[in-house]
Amino acid sequence: MTPPPELQPLDESTFETVLCVVAHPDDLEYGTAAAVDKWVRAGKTVTYLLATRGEAGIDTMSPQEAGPLREQEERDGAAAVGVDVVEFLDGFADGVVEYGLPLRRAIAREIRVRKPDLVITTTYADRFPGGFVNQADHRAVGLAVVDAKADAGNRWIFTDLVDEGHDPWQVARLLIVADPEPTHFVDVSDHFDAAVRSLSAHDAYLSALGPEYPKPADLLGMILGGPSEAVGLPYAVTGRLVGG
Ligand SMILES: [Zn+2]
Repeated sequence: MTPPPELQPLDESTFETVLCVVAHPDDLEYGTAAAVDKWVRAGKTVTYLLATRGEAGIDTMSPQEAGPLREQEERDGAAAVGVDVVEFLDGFADGVVEYGLPLRRAIAREIRVRKPDLVITTTYADRFPGGFVNQADHRAVGLAVVDAKADAGNRWIFTDLVDEGHDPWQVARLLIVADPEPTHFVDVSDHFDAAVRSLSAHDAYLSALGPEYPKPADLLGMILGGPSEAVGLPYAVTGRLVGG
């Protein structure tokens, strides 16, 4: 059996503007926020786009109540790592997000608005590296991001976007985090505490998961510390890089 290729450091000099696209409040806070903290502190521009407000995520709370609460928790979690632009799509409901043209168009539109050098999303693989089944919205959004990256660069796809004033934008790189076949890593050893603060902002959501659910520092210790042996660092974010 061929051993997996060694993880390479992501060349962080190749991008200044980053757009992170995920399904739910908290998706970016399970590790990615550590890299975001690093980049914002380095002067890079990072913005978030979420497909839903995670309104179906709290069993004891109606979506009408949970949606605004989780939206605010996401804004607080983003602020903890210096991100102040957090956008939410309308028209996609938590838990039943469908891969399709409306989702691709909405993401392609945001790419053309933000003009990122690097787009980040979470894996669309059926399973996470640990073997857990990847939730349906994550699969739909992750795959839609891959396709929207191409759509954003093609003026003949979603031509109404050009009519709206959004010219094509070529995204140079896409990093798919939590992917079972990672190729690159980001050293976030100095950004663990920021990541914990970011995840801790989701207090109502995490509390509703019960006292047995691991605390943010423990969870992030597992997630960001998992690749430490492979990369020789205390903490790292890993992902599969698409593009150069
Ligand atoms: Zn999620």
